[in-house]
Amino acid sequence: MRHGQGFSDLEDHLDDLRRRDMYRVRRSLEGPQGREVLVDGRPLLNFCSNDYLGLAGDSRIAAAFKRGIDRWGTGAGASHLICGHTAAHEELEEALAEFTGRPRALLYGSGYAANVGVINALLSVGDFVFEDRLNHASLLDGGWISRATFAWFQHRDTADLDAKLAAVRDQPTRKLVVSDGTFSMDGDPCRLDELVALAKHHGTWTMIDDAHGMGVHGENGVGLVDPQRYSIADVPVLVGTLGKAFGTAGAFVAGGESLVETLIQRSRNYVFTTAMPSALAVATLESLAIAKADPGRREHLAALIARFRNGTRELGLKLMASTSPIQPVVVGDPARALALSRALEERGFLIGAIRPPTVPHGTSRLRITLTAAHQSSDVDRLLESLNELSVCASPEGSRS
Ligand SMILES: *Cc1c(COP(=O)(O)O)cnc(C)c1O
Repeated sequence: MRHGQGFSDLEDHLDDLRRRDMYRVRRSLEGPQGREVLVDGRPLLNFCSNDYLGLAGDSRIAAAFKRGIDRWGTGAGASHLICGHTAAHEELEEALAEFTGRPRALLYGSGYAANVGVINALLSVGDFVFEDRLNHASLLDGGWISRATFAWFQHRDTADLDAKLAAVRDQPTRKLVVSDGTFSMDGDPCRLDELVALAKHHGTWTMIDDAHGMGVHGENGVGLVDPQRYSIADVPVLVGTLGKAFGTAGAFVAGGESLVETLIQRSRNYVFTTAMPSALAVATLESLAIAKADPGRREHLAALIARFRNGTRELGLKLMASTSPIQPVVVGDPARALALSRALEERGFLIGAIRPPTVPHGTSRLRITLTAAHQSSDVDRLLESLNELSVCASPEGSRS
């Protein structure tokens, strides 16, 4: 595994991953996303998707997608700045700006592209980026690629962030504080009030990626960054994704006029990529309308989350401080996470084992996610199986 051997060591690396139970394989679904999915010809109760509102397989959104294709065709044909930008993109951007209470919104092909593209457009050599230790990979990659000076702060530890900001207080360059809104692998929310206060105190900007909060929490499903509470001065850069609660694909950045115009000029992941299909924008307009108008889905989901948490408490199972649909059960060791995932599959559940590098070493877990498509009885069945498999009998590796 040394330099000079070219790529002859790829197989060794793969073997090493297999030996350490870190090898990843993809499962092919044989039908649409939903409460139940078909895998290897067998229906499994799906407890690992990010389709929080159960909209990815919704027939109304599929119908809108088809209408969109009839109107706009399949491909956008070019980037937004050449000739790929359409009235459908424009309409979705306006709807997302209104939804988030921001003057403007800008579409990206994915959340990954948006996060890397935004941080890169805003920061350069000599600037500073401060990131929560458990931020999503795309936020970390954006920070590294920007060539700004990169600083971690401990997870949700605003005192640590405060100290790090104070240390560069006299530097006149740009400073950006970056955090997941709801952390993707732990399900806990960032301390938004404190982040906003710190950013104001130190004269920095705050960027929140609310990929898992949007559609799920707040008035009309607006997420953690409720515009009634957080102005654009509080959270100048807001990122949302469309492939999770909204059930389609893509992402957007919401913010002020000068932010969005800067991104259009300078964000490489925006400029040098083909626009998303207009039909996708049409479909997303439909899902946004459904998500906003249907609080019943959010209420049902909140009830399922409470039911799951109460049930696990009764079983003596330790959960993380999550009020979101992400309810991970940390088991520590990757081999144990894999074994549990397989045992649950035998009992009819699809739940992935999340291992490093997605999560820190020693914190491999079952990342259980609940969606509005689940029924109370599904949650009860899952609790029963977790109990039978003695998932709670492994305190080692669980963390507070
Ligand atoms: C899923 C996710 C992304 C990436 O979004 P995609 O549209 O899937 O590329 C970004 N940030 C967070 C926090 C996520 O969970």
